[in-house]
Amino acid sequence: MKRTPEKKHTLPNHQKRHWVRLTRDCNLRCVFCLDKDAQDGTNIPFPAVVDDLQRGRDRGVVRVVLSGGEPTIHPDYLRIVSRAREMEYTHIQTVTNGKMFCYKNFLDQAVTGGLTEITFSIHGHTAQLHDSQVKMPGSFVQAMAGLTSALKIPGLIVSVDIVLSRLNVKHLPEMLEFFVGVGVREFDLLQVIPFGLAWQNNSGLFYDIEENLPYLRKAFEYSKRPDISLWTNRFPPKYLEGFENLIQYPGKLRDEVLGEAKDMFEAYLRQGKLMLCHGDRCRFCYNDELCQDFVRFKETGRLEAKKIPPCLEDWEVYADSENEPRPVLEMPGDPSKADPAKVVNFFIPYRYYLKSSQCARCRCNDSCAGAPVDHIRQYGFNSLKPIE
Ligand code: SF4
Ligand code: SF4
Repeated sequence: MKRTPEKKHTLPNHQKRHWVRLTRDCNLRCVFCLDKDAQDGTNIPFPAVVDDLQRGRDRGVVRVVLSGGEPTIHPDYLRIVSRAREMEYTHIQTVTNGKMFCYKNFLDQAVTGGLTEITFSIHGHTAQLHDSQVKMPGSFVQAMAGLTSALKIPGLIVSVDIVLSRLNVKHLPEMLEFFVGVGVREFDLLQVIPFGLAWQNNSGLFYDIEENLPYLRKAFEYSKRPDISLWTNRFPPKYLEGFENLIQYPGKLRDEVLGEAKDMFEAYLRQGKLMLCHGDRCRFCYNDELCQDFVRFKETGRLEAKKIPPCLEDWEVYADSENEPRPVLEMPGDPSKADPAKVVNFFIPYRYYLKSSQCARCRCNDSCAGAPVDHIRQYGFNSLKPIE
């Protein structure tokens, strides 16, 4: 009899957000900054920001994220928030280092103008830990002043972003305890990735995830509290056994490939120009498996869907997978028509597969690729039962 599994997690709605860059400048010097290469000390002129806001509305998006660089140092920041509200964005969020929000007037005016969510990027629970990463003394005190004032404003959503690196990973449980203690209930944990200054400073920042799992898992436990929302960003899903609800929405890979990097992937598929970042840094990169598939696709001209694992063959949802031909993606006859979107759209359902720690005990381990990421997100790693 075919098994009908119990669904473990409900997949979240991935509400569309329009990101608008306000500045190419910042008032901090974070050691892991991904944006430094794109910064030249300028602000995006107000009319260009308004045009960008309009592009989001034209696509029907009602949720906007004002970002930078550091968005709050834009001289027209408050005017931009108000304009976004006038343009009928219903959710106006800003991602900030929080320094400017220590000025209560500035915070109040932003909220009155329409700001509905502030995400504070704070990477430590002490001045020493935070300031040593952002390279600006006094930053922790300022950010915390802004954060505590913001938490007192009724209806304002306040969240904290933490970049996880060798510098703070061991303190993560204490950090969450500290921020929960002051009233924060939403967190995004961003894994350090090998770009910008983070790559230049890589030896001091990249860390052995396996070795630090006890700290990470202690922090992930907070996600089980009903009053706390916690997300991970670019965190390798294979380390999220028991916390499958924290596996990042796989569609995010589309943003990685079809956003600013789209030309690079297109040039690879069409002209064979290898991705500029390809090489040593790939092993630290969240996109590694996807990029390996880009290379495989370019070199062989095709990708084939991976098999559903033997331990799931008796699941009702996979009943016909054994008999049906496996989907294949072929390189177009004219490579100048190759499209990175097709590769990522094929990769997510058919080749983004994960295995559990139990797989090592399975007699199929060597020949099995694991299960689709969406299966793991819904039913958990525990649904993979080793075949003895
Ligand atoms: S995995 Fe891909 S995106 Fe990441 S560094 Fe390598 S080539 Fe670049
Ligand atoms: S337990 Fe793991 S290795 Fe064995 S069949 Fe399932 S997914 Fe494959």
